[in-house]
Amino acid sequence: MNTYDFIIVGGGSAGCVLAERLSACGKHQVCLLEAGPKDKHWSIHLPLGVIELMKSKTLNWQLNSHPEKTQNGRKIFNPRGKTLGGSSSINAMLYTRGQKEDYDHWSELGNDGWSYDEVLPYFKSTQHQERGESEYHGVNGGLNVAESRSKPPINEDFFLAAKEAGFPLNDDFNGKTQEGIGYYQVTQKNGLRCSAAKAFLTPNLDRSNLTVLTEVLVEKIEINNQQATGVLYKKNGIHYQVHANKEVILSAGAFNSPQILMLSGIGDKEVLNEHGIEMIHDLKGVGKNLQDHVDILVVTHHHRTDLLSFRPKAIWWAIKEGLKFVKNKTGLLTSVVAESGGFIKSSPSIKRPDLQLHFIPAAMDDHGRNLKLLFNYGIALHVCLLRPKSRGQVSLYGNNSTLHPKIELNMLNHPDDIKTMVKGVKIARDIFSKSPLVENNGHEIFPGTNCQSDQEIHEFLKNKSNTIYHPVGTCKMGSDDMAVVDSELKVHGIGKLRVIDASIMPTLISGNTNAPTIMIAAKIADSILAEHS
Ligand SMILES: Cc1cc2nc3c(=O)[nH]c(=O)nc-3n(C[C@H](O)[C@H](O)[C@H](O)COP(=O)(O)OP(=O)(O)OC[C@H]3O[C@@H](n4cnc5c(N)ncnc54)[C@H](O)[C@@H]3O)c2cc1C
Repeated sequence: MNTYDFIIVGGGSAGCVLAERLSACGKHQVCLLEAGPKDKHWSIHLPLGVIELMKSKTLNWQLNSHPEKTQNGRKIFNPRGKTLGGSSSINAMLYTRGQKEDYDHWSELGNDGWSYDEVLPYFKSTQHQERGESEYHGVNGGLNVAESRSKPPINEDFFLAAKEAGFPLNDDFNGKTQEGIGYYQVTQKNGLRCSAAKAFLTPNLDRSNLTVLTEVLVEKIEINNQQATGVLYKKNGIHYQVHANKEVILSAGAFNSPQILMLSGIGDKEVLNEHGIEMIHDLKGVGKNLQDHVDILVVTHHHRTDLLSFRPKAIWWAIKEGLKFVKNKTGLLTSVVAESGGFIKSSPSIKRPDLQLHFIPAAMDDHGRNLKLLFNYGIALHVCLLRPKSRGQVSLYGNNSTLHPKIELNMLNHPDDIKTMVKGVKIARDIFSKSPLVENNGHEIFPGTNCQSDQEIHEFLKNKSNTIYHPVGTCKMGSDDMAVVDSELKVHGIGKLRVIDASIMPTLISGNTNAPTIMIAAKIADSILAEHS
C-alpha cells in the first residue's frame, strides 16, 4: 500500500502521540515514517542506559552545531533521538511542563487556544500521574509519571545546602508553583523508561490502520499546486513515494523539520537559492528563531563515596545499588542521573524563576563523555537559562537529505543572557558553599578558583557552556512575517501540511520540553480529527 490518509514524518515525542490518536477511531489509514530503528536496545529501556545513549551512533543523530562565534568557535554537541520515541527514547526522563506564563505568552502573541488554561487539559489527558488525580494531574494518559526510584543520599545534602542558600523546597514542579528545589518526577514505569513510543505507540502497533516504517529517511515532501500530496523517502538506497489523501504531518523535531521543509522548497528564498533548490514557497521564517537552554556545569571534588564514580568505594556502592534492580526494580540502574534540581530566580526582585538547576552526583563534564573526570569523587550542578533572548537558526549544508542540518545556536549572543548566566554560576557556587555540602567538598574543578570576576566567568561560559537539549522555535507558530505555521499548526501558504513538534513553540518554555511537545501533539490531534470527521 502506498496511499494513506495521514503520513507522519518522524516517530518521536510528537509523532508517537499523533500516530496513536489519529489511528484510534479506525477510520483513517495512518503511516508513521521513522529514520531510526525500532526501540529494542536495552539502553533505551534501562534508565541508566542514558549514559550509553549519549555515545550511540545508531540511536542518536549525534548532531553538532556549526562553530559557534559566541562560544569561542566550539561545535556544540546536540544529541537527538533516532529511533521510535525519538528524543524521548534517549532523554533524561524528567517530567516538567514549564510555567503558566509561558503558555499565556503564546496566547498573547495571538495564538488562539494556547493559554495555560487551554493546554492544561492536554497535559493531564496524556499523563498517568502515579501520585493520583488532582487539579494539575491526570491519571488516564499513557505517559507514566513516577517518583524516581533512585535517590542517592547526596541529594538530601543538596536540598539542605540550597535551603541554606535561601531557596524554597518544592515537591511538585508541575503543581501550583514551579519555584523551588526538590526531586524531579520521571517518565518511567516500574523502573523502566516510559518513552513516547512506550506510552502511546507500542500498545497500539496491532491496529490494522496503522503502518509504522522504521529505518526510512524522508527526503522531501511532494507538493502539487501548493498542496502537500505525499512524501519521498529512502530505504536501503532505494527511493519510495507514499501519497497522503488528507494531510502530511512533519514531526521530525526542531532541527530536522525545518531541514525537510527547505529540502522540499519551502523556506527562505536566499537559503534555497544558495543550494539550488527549486522554490515552491518563500517562507522566510523556516529554520529561524532557534532557541535553546544554554547550560553550564559547576563541578567540585567531593569526599562522599556513594557517588557515581570509577573510584573503588563508589564502584562497591554502585554494585550494591545495582542489585536492588534485580530485587525490586529500584536503585542506581533506574537513575536518570539528574534526580533533583529545581527552578530558581537569579534575583529575588524578579517575578518568576529564570534559571533551572539539575544536580548530578558525579564529577560530570562534556555531557558525561569525559570519563577521565569520573575517576574522581565529585558533584556537579547544571545551571541553565530558562527564557533566553539569544536566537539562532537552522539552515542547510546542501541539497541532500543525508547531510546533517546546519545548526547555529548562537547562544550567549544577547548580553542579558550572559548576565543571568554569570549570576547562575555564582548561585551554584553559593549553594556548594553551604552546609552540609561544604564540609565534604574538595577543591573546585569548574570554573576553578582562578575564575572570579564577571569577565572571567563570561570567558568560562564561552569555553564550557553547552545546550541542555531543548531546541525549539524553528517552525514557529504565529501570524507575523517570520511565522511558519498558524495556531492550528498548518504551514502558511501550503495546503494539507502541518508541522507538529517542538519546533512550533514561538518561545521556549521554562522547563524540559518532552511533556510540552506531547501536549502540543495531543491538542492538535483533536483539531485534525474534528476537521476530518
Ligand atoms: C539527551 C536529551 C535529554 C533530554 N532530557 C529531557 C528531559 O529529561 N525531560 C524533557 O522533558 N525533555 C528532555 N529532552 C528534550 C525532549 O526529549 C525533546 O524536546 C522532545 O523529545 C522533542 O520531541 P519532538 O517530537 O519535537 O522531536 P523528537 O522526539 O526528536 O522526534 C523527531 C523524530 O523524527 C525523526 N526524524 C528526523 N528526521 C527524519 C527524517 N528525515 N526521516 C524520518 N524520520 C526523521 C527522528 O529520528 C526522531 O525520531 C531531552 C532531549 C535530549 C536529546
